[in-house]
Amino acid sequence: MTGKTVLITGANKSIGFETARQMGRAGYRIWLSCRDTGRGQAAADTLTDEGLDVRLLEINVADDASVAAAAARVQVQDGRLDVLINNAGIPGQSLADTSLQPLEDIRQVYETNVFGVIRVTQAFLPLLKAAAPATIIMVSSGLGSLGWTTDPDNFHSKVNILGYNSSKSALNAVTVSFAKALAPHGIRVDCADPGYTATDFNGHSGYRTVEQAGAGIAWLAQQDPAAQGGRFFFEQAQVPW
Ligand code: NAP
Repeated sequence: MTGKTVLITGANKSIGFETARQMGRAGYRIWLSCRDTGRGQAAADTLTDEGLDVRLLEINVADDASVAAAAARVQVQDGRLDVLINNAGIPGQSLADTSLQPLEDIRQVYETNVFGVIRVTQAFLPLLKAAAPATIIMVSSGLGSLGWTTDPDNFHSKVNILGYNSSKSALNAVTVSFAKALAPHGIRVDCADPGYTATDFNGHSGYRTVEQAGAGIAWLAQQDPAAQGGRFFFEQAQVPW
């Protein structure tokens, strides 16, 4: 055991669940966070049966009260948090004509992918500061990389979803801002692209496995917390913003 704790949002399934498993195997005590405790309990039981140290934590990242209650519980139980992985995310509607994506749908995507991340990060900051040096990982997407989506030779430039792509570009900017603000407090903030991964998110059309996706995120989460953050990685290589 490392004696360190990690919290992963949206960890009841898919990439978040596998990331929790890999962090657990690396010796971290896991806060397995999910918005539905029924689904979350089943996931936590699976990892507990594998011998990992797991506690279930209800968080709907789109809900102020839910996030505040979760932070209060971790404050009472641990008083600190070593690693926060903001994984929860939604795709929204991927329409044939992306320019017609309804504003309300885009608003929901931002509520989870952008404001949800800011909400959770701000709520858990006192706990991360108490554990410093500490780490925050944002699970972004290659579709948020403007460097890739504007490069006609890169396959990410062929996928144009107004709400989702722009929400992940916004998340990348949010990462840079938090990284600058939190470096003096001993908190490293980096972004991970899990790659196109077969999950419910995309009807299991991705070419990567959740094990591969989780490995990249877990690797980044375990890098030196005192290192200079504000970076974007796919596996162990840096991605252009
Ligand atoms: P997924 O299979 O759809 O799982 C998403 C997870 O997020 C679920 O646990 C879901 O909970 C949770 N979630 C959604 N909204 C939430 C909310 N408001 N509060 C708390 N939890 C919430 O997606 P995934 O493929 O694992 O994606 C995980 C992350 O990787 C996302 O941020 C996604 O944008 C990113 N990503 C995925 C791919 C890919 O190809 N799959 C590629 C690049 C980036 P419920 O089970 O309750 O719905």
